[in-house]
Formats: sequence, structure tokens, C-alpha cells
Amino acid sequence: MAEVYNWHLGRSMAYAFPEAHPQKQFAAVFNINRCIGCQTCTGACKATWTFSRGQEYMWWNNVESKPYGGYPQHWDIHILQRLDEAHQAAGKQAEWDQAQAGESAPYGVYQGLTITEAAGAEQQALGYIPPDTEWRAPNFYEDTSTGYQGDRLGISTAGASLPEHQTWFFYLQRLCNHCTYPACAAACPRKAIYKRPEDGIVLIDQARCRGYRKCVEQCPYKKSMYRGTTRTSEKCVACYPRVEGSDPLSEGVPMETRCMAVCPGKIRLNGLVDIAADGSWAEAPNHPLYHLIKIEKAALPLYPQFGTEPNIYYIPPRWAPRPYLRQMFGPGVDEAIARYAAPSRQLLAVLQLFRTTQRMIFRFEIEEGPLVLETEVNGQPWQMFNDTVIGFDAKNREVARLSVVEPIHERPAERLNSI
Ligand code: SF4
Ligand code: SF4
Ligand code: SF4
Repeated sequence: MAEVYNWHLGRSMAYAFPEAHPQKQFAAVFNINRCIGCQTCTGACKATWTFSRGQEYMWWNNVESKPYGGYPQHWDIHILQRLDEAHQAAGKQAEWDQAQAGESAPYGVYQGLTITEAAGAEQQALGYIPPDTEWRAPNFYEDTSTGYQGDRLGISTAGASLPEHQTWFFYLQRLCNHCTYPACAAACPRKAIYKRPEDGIVLIDQARCRGYRKCVEQCPYKKSMYRGTTRTSEKCVACYPRVEGSDPLSEGVPMETRCMAVCPGKIRLNGLVDIAADGSWAEAPNHPLYHLIKIEKAALPLYPQFGTEPNIYYIPPRWAPRPYLRQMFGPGVDEAIARYAAPSRQLLAVLQLFRTTQRMIFRFEIEEGPLVLETEVNGQPWQMFNDTVIGFDAKNREVARLSVVEPIHERPAERLNSI
């Protein structure tokens, strides 16, 4: 085992391979607050990549209703339980020391065990192979909320109010995280899984794979899947022709992936971030992903305690119980929700960029506009300005221009009936 630095955990950790980093990293931010659970993303991936024999059960992208849903069923509960048992056996607590938070440890320092550190002698990472029954349907418990504990008929007469609803659920959008320290790659005895140096995308070499399913077992997010017809494992390929700009539609510049580009809820923003030689994110305050994740800290990794340093980030849902969210997204939840609820001028502008173009945005500029609203949020004064945000692609060409206040176009009287 080598020692590598994991900035999500704020500390070094054990990993199968020594530290090595790509020049750029495929990453995305998902705004859970806006997802409508339409599964357009899920269908787009299926129609593009997993429509063949042996792939019937594969949903590389899926959207599950939390807290009960999961694909495969109960995937996160299973791994959290195993991690908890390992902590009990080691006499450790899975706690975070937020007092040590700083530049290279934005969420503090994780004091517990990762899935690599909790693994037994025969495994690289803690894991399990889900039985077929747990893959049999991708969307169990769709739209199922927690039960209301109050009035006799289970209906609240008081209604719901923030910061926490008593009855709740939310949609969790999931695909392979193209992790910085992929457990799937560490687990593979054939060394068939690799991380591309140009964009950090994690792929399975189908010619090397022998279908041992070690990746299926040890990916904590259960995003590597076995195909019986080829006897190999498969996973999300991050729509790499689009990311490379080699897809005919892309005109030579990186495009967002299929599941990102189709989202009608406008919850997804996908891009490539520059990675420094030591694995940290190269400073880029005008890159929308850098801005959301590093500067505003409004978007957080999914189960950072697993220790793979996943590269899909989430703006947590405002209404769900905080202890549940802290377990899922780490200790940055309260700050992320506070920033999202009363966004800074820059954050509000960057949030407009979600799903405005299929091209990846590498840089944004903000043109300041007039003050349009003064109000209070959570007892504090808050102002809204009608700023304009402009997005630029990899060739520094303008590809998006949006104002904070959406323009209203009134249909002229003579055309009232026309469609
Ligand atoms: S999410 Fe799983 S399959 Fe994807 S890179 Fe991470 S460990 Fe590998
Ligand atoms: S990035 Fe592409 S391959 Fe991966 S889940 Fe989305 S659509 Fe599927
Ligand atoms: S397409 Fe967008 S809004 Fe619809 S389920 Fe997927 S992430 Fe949510």
C-alpha cells in the first residue's frame, strides 16, 4: 500500500498505487434542489451505451429517491454498515475534526477509517457483491417519503417549513464518480482498469478484463457492473468521445456528456478542471466548477468518508435532516446550504450557467447589473442584482450569456392564438 493525499479527507491515506494525477479531471456539480426525478438522464445513457444483450439491467446513470431508494438496492446502507462494523472492531469513531479545516483540508480532517483502511487482508477495499435480486429494478421506493410522525391521520395541519421538513425525500442522481483513487482499479487483479492521464476518466479495458467482478465488489458506489454475455465488467465511460471533442457534434471542443446535456431540470454542470502535479486543483476562480466547489463550497462530494475522492459534487437538498445529509456529504453540509440559500452575487450568477449549452464551459465572466431586490433571508439582509454571466468554451469562444432575471417576452396581441 502507498500513502496518497486525499483533500476531501484532509489527510493522507493508504491506497494500492502511488500518487499520480491526470492533467485535467472530469468533474460535475449536481444541484439536488432542482432535480424533478424525470429520469431523462437515465434514459439518455441507456439509449446511448447500454441497449444491447447482457446490458438489460445496467443503468450507468440512475436517479434514486432517498432515503429508501437505491440501485442496487440499499447499496449505501450495506457499505455504511460494513464500515461501521470495522470501526467498532478497531475501537475507532468515524468523526471529522473541523477545527483543522484549512486550504488543503476544506472540510476538516477525517479521523475514521476509509474503505481501503477498513479492508481485510484479502481485499484492497471493503465491499460486497450485490445479489441479482438487488439489481432487479432500478427505482424501488420511487417518490416514497418518510412517514409523518405527528397527527393521527398522518397529515400535518401546520404544513412544512425550513430548515428541516418532518416528512421528506429527495432525488439522488448517480453515475461513476471517476474517482481520484478508484477502488475499482485498486481491486482489479488483472490491472484492467485505468485512469486516463488527459482527463481522469476511469475505464475498463475490455480486452484485459476476465470478469472476476472484483471491481463490482469493491466500488463502494456500485457503479461497475458485470455483463454475463461477454463475461466482462462494464461501467460509465463518461461519454469520452464528447469529452475529447471527437464526437462529430462537438466541433472539436469538449462537450458535456449525454446524461448531463439532456437534463430538463437544469441541475447538472459538467466540465474539466486543471490538476496540479500534487493532485490539488490548480487555482481557477473563474472556472464554474472550481468556483462552486472550492470558492463557494456550495457543492460537496458523495460519501467522502469512503476515501476514493469522488469527482461528482452535489448541492445538498435544503429540506432534508442535517444529520442524514452530514453522513452523506460530510461536515460541509451546513455551510453549503447556508451559501446556497443566500447566494453571493457571484454564486447566483454562476448558478445560471447550468444547462445553457452542450459545450463544456471553461471560464466565466460577470457583467454587473442593477440592484433589483432587497429582502431578508434567514433573518439577514440579502440583495439581488440583475448581473449577466457569460460562459466561454475550451477555445475561449462565448457559448452562453444569461441574466439573473429571466427576460419576459410578451406575445403581441395579433398573435395571441398562434402556436
Ligand atoms: S465510482 Fe466506482 S467504478 Fe467509478 S471510479 Fe469510483 S470506484 Fe471506480
Ligand atoms: S457520462 Fe455518459 S456513459 Fe456515463 S452515465 Fe452519463 S451518459 Fe452514461
Ligand atoms: S434529467 Fe435532470 S432533472 Fe431529470 S432526473 Fe436526471 S438529473 Fe434529475
